[in-house]
Amino acid sequence: MNEWIDRESKVMAQTYARYPVVFVKGEGTTLIDDAGKTYTDFLSGIAVCNLGHAHPKVAEALAEQAKTLCHVSNLFYTQPQVELAEWLTERCFADRLFLCNSGAEANEAAIKLARKYFHDKGEERHRIISMTRSFHGRTMATLSATGQDKIKEGFTPLLPGFEHVTFNSMEALEEIMDESVCAVLVEPLQGEGGVCAPDDGYLEDLRALCDHYGSLLIFDEIQTGMGRTGKLFAHQHTTVAPDIMTLAKALGNGLPIGAMLATDKVMASFGKGAHGSTFGGTPLVTAAALAVVRCFDEENVVEKGAEVGAYFKEALEALQGKHTLVKDVRGMGLLLGMEIDGDGADVVKKCLEKGQVINAVQGNTLRFVPPLTITKPEIDALIVVLDEIFMEMHVDS
Ligand SMILES: *Cc1c(COP(=O)(O)O)cnc(C)c1O
Repeated sequence: MNEWIDRESKVMAQTYARYPVVFVKGEGTTLIDDAGKTYTDFLSGIAVCNLGHAHPKVAEALAEQAKTLCHVSNLFYTQPQVELAEWLTERCFADRLFLCNSGAEANEAAIKLARKYFHDKGEERHRIISMTRSFHGRTMATLSATGQDKIKEGFTPLLPGFEHVTFNSMEALEEIMDESVCAVLVEPLQGEGGVCAPDDGYLEDLRALCDHYGSLLIFDEIQTGMGRTGKLFAHQHTTVAPDIMTLAKALGNGLPIGAMLATDKVMASFGKGAHGSTFGGTPLVTAAALAVVRCFDEENVVEKGAEVGAYFKEALEALQGKHTLVKDVRGMGLLLGMEIDGDGADVVKKCLEKGQVINAVQGNTLRFVPPLTITKPEIDALIVVLDEIFMEMHVDS
C-alpha cells in the first residue's frame, strides 16, 4: 500500500472515491506520480487546466504577484481584477462581473442576483428552473438547483423554489413555465450529467420562452467556458445570449476563481452591500487568470482546441465502429464523452495502469477533457490504449 494513501485515509474526510495514484508534478499535458511514472492527462483536473500544467507564463505571473501583493480585500481597488473583467466582458454579452472563488459560489451569486432583480422590480418571483441530470455545485442553493437525486440524499430540506424539467425538452418546460418564474438555469452542454449536448434550437427556444414570460436565462458555463467546447463560451456556437453566465473551472488554470457575469440591466441589482466575498478576485488569483486569458490570445488556444477536438471525436467514433460495447460518442470541442456498455470506473483504472488519465461520469460514460493543448499523437496513443482495453473486455464477456 502506498504510504500517502494510507496516511490520507486516517486524516482526511473520506468524501472522494479516489483512484490509487499520488500525483506530485505536472508539465503541459503530462502528469507524474510519486513513483516517477508519467501519464498523459485527458482530464485536466476536471476541465480546469486548459493550458496544461505548470504553464510558464501563468507560473511567472503568479510568482511575480505573490511577491508584490496577494490580498488587500475588496474594500479597495486592485488592478488585475479590472483588467480581467475588461478582457471577459469584451468577449461576450456581459457588461459587468462579480468575482468569487469557485463554481458553486458563482452559481450562488447568479441565483441571488436573479432573485434580487425581481425583488427590486417589485415582482414576486422566486422560482428557479433547472434541468434533470444537471450539476450546479454542492452548496445548499446550488445543490437545490442540481438535477441529480443521489448527491442530494441526506441533505433535506433543500431550499424552496427550485424545480427541474428534462434537459432538451421544451414541452416539459412549457408546461410549468409562467410569469412566476424568476430564472431558467442551464448548462449549454451538460458535463457531469453525461456529456449531453443541447438539441439544435434548444437554447434559442429557451431564450424565446424566457423572453415571453420576462424570466431571466442563466447559462452555467463553469465547465463549458474558456474554450472547452471549441468557442470561448459554449453558447457562442449559437446566436443566443443569456442574461447571466457563470464561469470557474478553467478561468484560473488551477487557481481557485469563479465569476458571475451579467448585463448592466440585471447587475444593477447587485448594488453596494448586496453581495461580497473576502477572497473574491484577489490580486493573486486575478493576476493568474489574466495571464491565462492573455495566453488564450497569444497562443490561439481556443482555435487549436477546436481543431484537435474534431480530430479526437472522429477517432472516438471510429472506435465506436469497431467495438459494439461503445454505445455512443457525444460532445463538442474537447468536452467529449463515450457511453459504453460496461463499468466506466473499470476502464478508467485500466487506462491509469497504461499511463492515461481519463474519468467517467454517470457510471457508464467515459469523459475526455484534456488540456486544449493536447496533440494529435497523444490522442492517437490514447485511442490505441482504449482499443486494447475494449478488446480485452470483449474477450472477458
Ligand atoms: C464543476 C461545476 C460546478 C461546481 O464548481 P465547484 O468549483 O466545484 O463549486 C458547477 N457547475 C458546473 C457545470 C460544473 O461543471
